[in-house]
Amino acid sequence: MQAIDLRRYQHPVFFTGAGLSAESGVPTYRGRGGIWQQYNYEDYACQRAFLRNPEQVLDFHELRRTKTLACAPHAGHMHLVQLQSLQPQLAVITQNIDGLLQRAAVRVDAELHGSMWRLRCACGIREDVAAASYARRRCEQCDAWLRPDITWFEDAVDASVFARADELVAQADLFVAVGTSGVVWPAAGFAQAAHGAGARMIEINPEATEASGFYSECVRLPASQALPALFAL
Ligand SMILES: [Zn+2]
Repeated sequence: MQAIDLRRYQHPVFFTGAGLSAESGVPTYRGRGGIWQQYNYEDYACQRAFLRNPEQVLDFHELRRTKTLACAPHAGHMHLVQLQSLQPQLAVITQNIDGLLQRAAVRVDAELHGSMWRLRCACGIREDVAAASYARRRCEQCDAWLRPDITWFEDAVDASVFARADELVAQADLFVAVGTSGVVWPAAGFAQAAHGAGARMIEINPEATEASGFYSECVRLPASQALPALFAL
């Protein structure tokens, strides 16, 4: 296959999931050997657990941060950085909360499930704490426990972030899914929407997924190999 020149596309959209981070060694949440097989989300990753035992929930998320900090971006992340400088219109939508794309210096347009590096309070204060340990566990303004700014089980998704992602997908002329099974709704709808809008559809994933039917080109390689091979600099 001839390498694709992204400058030939007006609105390329890359949609990334857990597989991209797993290649860096970031533990995955779902599936075999995933975090939710070791931990019951009802004790660690929902608002009910947080209200019941905020410190246990925050300890769990600090552990996730420590493990993520031990991982480094790989060749696939670095290639995305270069592609974005070649084609500034390249939009990135991610389901990942680990911040690995940003650490590689990829500009991320929509973090669908938030970021483990931010905390928030009901009073609206958010803070960035890019360290393994939270600098502060309680809000300075109202003294409430600060919660990770991520979408937990049983949470509603962030409507404004999804609206932004929908907008990007609706105008995509190239849609590339990287390391995502696409089964987690509502993210699963993006492949369908991009396909419906007439985008060129490429799936990068070592295994076939439930969304594979929407893609005209499927590359069965890890992202660190597929991205440099597929997209020219
Ligand atoms: Zn507060």
